[in-house]
Amino acid sequence: MRRTWIGTGWKMNFLRAEAEAYVDELGVALQGGVPEGLQIFVVPPATVLRAVRERAKGLPLLVGAQNMHWEESGAFTGEISPAMVKDCGADLVELGHSERRAMFGETDAAVNRKVHAALAHGLTPLVCVGETADEKRLGAARESVVRQAKIALHGVPAQRVSEVLLAYEPVWAIGAGGTPAEPGYAAQMHAALRAAIGEVHGAATAARCAILYGGSVDLGNARPFLAEREVDGLFVGRTAWKASGLVALIRIAGEMLPTRRKQRLEAS
Ligand code: PEP
Repeated sequence: MRRTWIGTGWKMNFLRAEAEAYVDELGVALQGGVPEGLQIFVVPPATVLRAVRERAKGLPLLVGAQNMHWEESGAFTGEISPAMVKDCGADLVELGHSERRAMFGETDAAVNRKVHAALAHGLTPLVCVGETADEKRLGAARESVVRQAKIALHGVPAQRVSEVLLAYEPVWAIGAGGTPAEPGYAAQMHAALRAAIGEVHGAATAARCAILYGGSVDLGNARPFLAEREVDGLFVGRTAWKASGLVALIRIAGEMLPTRRKQRLEAS
C-alpha cells in the first residue's frame, strides 16, 4: 500500500542556526516516532543539507536537496553533483520545481537526465510537475503535466518507476499570491498522471507511484486534500517553514491514516 508523505521545501531560506533550531523542534515532536505508513521529509538549501542531516540523526526524517546536476563532476561552476548530494547524507532530491523551470531554464529533458542520475546514485527523485495559469485557462493543463511526467520518467525501467516521487504543483497555486487547487481538481490531475504512467509503464507500476500535492497547503485545507484517495501526501512551502506548521500537518496526516488505509483497501 502506498505511504502518505508529508514534506517541506525551504527554498532559499534558513541559515544554519535557524535550520538546526527547526530540526530540534521537529525532533521533540517526532520523539515518539511517526505512525506506520507516514513518511516525513525536509528539503533544505544545499548549504545546510549536511547540518540538517546530522542534526536529524535518529529521527524518522528523510532529507533532500533542492536541485543537482546530472553529471558526475567537471567544469560546471556553481553546480552540485549527485555524488555531492549523496555525500551530504541526502536521501532524496527535488527536481523540476516550477521556479527552477521558470527562472533557471530547467527543461523536461534536463529533469529526465537528473532523474536517471539520482536513481543511479541511490537518491529518490522528487519530480515537481504543474501547469501554468495560462495552460489551465487554455484547457491544456492535463497535457502539460502529463508531458512533464512522461519526459521525466522516460527510459526509467518499469521496476524503478515507483521509486520516483511526483509532486503535482500547479504553478498558479504555489507561493505568495497562489490559490490552492480544489482538492477534487488536484485528485483529477493526479489520476491523469497515474493513467499516463500506466500507459507507458503499466498499470501495476502506476498503482505503486506516490503523487503528492503542493501549492498553498495550509492547516485548513490539508484534511480535504488528504481525504482524496489519489493524493499520496503533501509537499508544503510556507505553512511548514515553522517547525510547528510541519508538526501540525504531521498530526493531521496521522489522524487521517486509518481512514486513508480503509479507503485504499476498499479500492484495491
Ligand atoms: C512550493 O513552492 O513548492 C510550495 C508548495 O509552496 P507553498 O506551499 O508556499 O505554496
